[in-house]
Amino acid sequence: MFDVIIVGAGPAGLSAALYAARSEMDALVIERFAPGGQLLNIGVVENYPGNFRDERNSFSGYELAQKMHQQAEQCGAYFRIGTVEAIQKEENRFAVRIAGEETLYARAVIVATGAKHRLLGIPGEKEFTGAGVSYCAPCDGPFFKGKKIFVAGGGDSACDEAHYLSRFSPEIVLVHRRDHFRAQKALADRVLNNPKIKVEFNTRILEIRGREKVYSVMLEQNGRQFETAADAVFVCVGIEPEYFPVPELVRDESGFIVTDQTMLTSIPGLFAVGDVRASPFRQIVTAAGDGAVAVHSAVAFVDSFSG
Ligand code: NAP
Repeated sequence: MFDVIIVGAGPAGLSAALYAARSEMDALVIERFAPGGQLLNIGVVENYPGNFRDERNSFSGYELAQKMHQQAEQCGAYFRIGTVEAIQKEENRFAVRIAGEETLYARAVIVATGAKHRLLGIPGEKEFTGAGVSYCAPCDGPFFKGKKIFVAGGGDSACDEAHYLSRFSPEIVLVHRRDHFRAQKALADRVLNNPKIKVEFNTRILEIRGREKVYSVMLEQNGRQFETAADAVFVCVGIEPEYFPVPELVRDESGFIVTDQTMLTSIPGLFAVGDVRASPFRQIVTAAGDGAVAVHSAVAFVDSFSG
């Protein structure tokens, strides 16, 4: 029996693992792929405090993930690969079933399963995913050196990714459906001041066209529809929570898990942290903060069993 099982090893789960291990809890992290979560898709992490090599260079998301993982493991947290397919609350514990493997038990569970990309849902998007349509600039940007690249969205991700892609091409078109960005001002200003990025407000991508790979997009702008050449479309239109197998949890209208300020969900002993949690602002630093707060609450919960 573990004190706490943490499901997911993105920054929220890794921070929870560190804090749990340092609180002398028996803590197990279960992760489907590799530690890091969405960190693994970030080329350069510029806004995580202290994460810089020198005044010009920050570490990559991959490097930060490795450091977080190593630190939690060195402090005594256990890690294993597996997909959690069911969690059941029993009288004084949770039964956590790993697909194709055993069932493990813990006094408390911290859900840190994160979020995934939302789709545009337009013709051509699915057909050309991997053949010009992408959701990850650091993963696929280098394939489009010198090419005409469209980016869809108006939030932090779209601005971040457009700026990152301008390393590879002088011809980036950022298409946003509104007349202003949703992104933080610093990220929006960086895009607006980047000569390699053309911003098209009040514009939607209606269709992605191609033959084996993308060759154009159909746009709608001020009621006018037209086709224009494109080599790639990076879709950055938000996130939705990863599925978590406890249907009775209270969620918001978009499916994110609702917690109180101690990270407690609607089920005593079950906490949620990071991008899977209903929250107004999602950053690496807020995910890490969530992990620390959840452990603080979980320690009190677990201690209540020892009287
Ligand atoms: P987001 O903030 O939800 O923004 C999504 C954008 O996509 C919005 O501008 C939205 O338009 C647009 N959109 C949504 N559905 C669309 C559709 N069907 N067609 C066209 N446009 C559509 O999502 P995000 O930018 O992925 O960011 C997610 C979270 O991660 C945020 O909390 C963000 O702060 C965080 N993040 C932070 C950083 C950073 O600090 N460096 C980087 C990346 C992400 P409307 O504006 O019209 O709704």
